Amino acid sequence: MNAPDLPGQPHLAYRAGGLFFEDVRLADLAEQHGTPLFVYSKAAMLEALQAYQRGFSGRQVQICYAVKANPALGVLQVFAEAGCGFDIVSAGELERVLAVGASANRVIFSGVGKTRAEMRAALEAGIGCFNVESESELEVLNQMALAMGLRAPVSLRVNPNVDPQTHPYISTGLKNSKFGIAHERVVPAYQRAAALAGVRVVGIDCHIGSQITQEGPFLEAVERMIDLVQAVEAAGVAIGHIDFGGGLGINYSGESPPGAEQLWKLLGTRLDARGFGQRLLMVEPGRSLVGNAGVCLTEVLYLKPGEQMNYCVVDAAMNDLPRPAMYQAYHGIVPLMPRGQANTIWQVVGPVCESGDWIGHDRALALEPGDRLAVLSAGAFCMSMASNYNSRGRPPEVLVEGNCSRLIRRRETVADQMSVELLSTKAP
Ligand SMILES: *Cc1c(COP(=O)(O)O)cnc(C)c1O
Repeated sequence: MNAPDLPGQPHLAYRAGGLFFEDVRLADLAEQHGTPLFVYSKAAMLEALQAYQRGFSGRQVQICYAVKANPALGVLQVFAEAGCGFDIVSAGELERVLAVGASANRVIFSGVGKTRAEMRAALEAGIGCFNVESESELEVLNQMALAMGLRAPVSLRVNPNVDPQTHPYISTGLKNSKFGIAHERVVPAYQRAAALAGVRVVGIDCHIGSQITQEGPFLEAVERMIDLVQAVEAAGVAIGHIDFGGGLGINYSGESPPGAEQLWKLLGTRLDARGFGQRLLMVEPGRSLVGNAGVCLTEVLYLKPGEQMNYCVVDAAMNDLPRPAMYQAYHGIVPLMPRGQANTIWQVVGPVCESGDWIGHDRALALEPGDRLAVLSAGAFCMSMASNYNSRGRPPEVLVEGNCSRLIRRRETVADQMSVELLSTKAP
């Protein structure tokens, strides 16, 4: 068997019979549920969470899973049962976390464009904190809370002006970013918040970007955040918790991001050195908890060898796996059942009518039509960004635990898609 390496893919391994996730043979799941199909490992998610928990041992911390990375109810349940809080960015995500029984006071609400209706829903639910991203949002939240006879718990999302050295679309903490309150406005914004009767200052937060693979930007953010906390507290406003956001990257193609445990032990020593190590700390990891805990299974439909390019057309597409088209992102692609020497270079593409619909460029694979492949590192920002483009139903999702597997989302049908539509003239 010519089994490829699987670096950075916990609980994914070749055994006799092909590729396994934990103790479940992936070819069996593809047979049972069809393809494309997302499969997640519960053990991989919990181990990623435990690395954070070890990194914070001896400290007060609230780890809030960033729901947008993967909002499946079955995934949220795993994190809720493990004691996580949640970082949400919409009222829809609020409904999801409440639906799995998460306690509202461990929910924090981020995002630059919260609507009044979303603020009302979150105030009614009694969430733990609004991460306010602008001074105008602060005024609206104050009015909404006063009208409901409440005081909204707030943290101001500040822009620490740190370059995360990642893809520009997922850099969020630079000076000219749309996110957060500009550095120089932080002290006056806190003074304003402290003067408003409808809000209560409970913390400060930042989030500098995503898929960050070095320690440097996090170290810099910690220093800039402590500078800001000191400036705000010197101006007479007590801050409470410090939330460092998410952003830790994963290994997609040989990146070697620091481990969460090692990173947070290091950042903790910096916080201790500046006298802030015993504050209530928060983090909002998304990708690093689920990204490498998921794969997407797909079947080879057709092979089109050509003079210049060899195309391998699979049944998964940009609507299922949007990251390559959106960010030129790389996902590993491996066979479920390896066959012989991989000596042909393939362009792995989907069936959607766009040249941007590719899953992987220049992959050495030994393939026949009907073979099944696993697209790796597909646990984060894949299903959560999936669409119905080309009227394709979104794939089902399966959660694996040991030798058991459970369907946590069935395949979407065309009837599901059409159920929200209305005809423009009387039905024929
Ligand atoms: C997206 C996001 C996160 C999670 O980012 P990851 O890179 O997935 O860890 C955390 N906080 C906020 C405010 C976000 O927008």
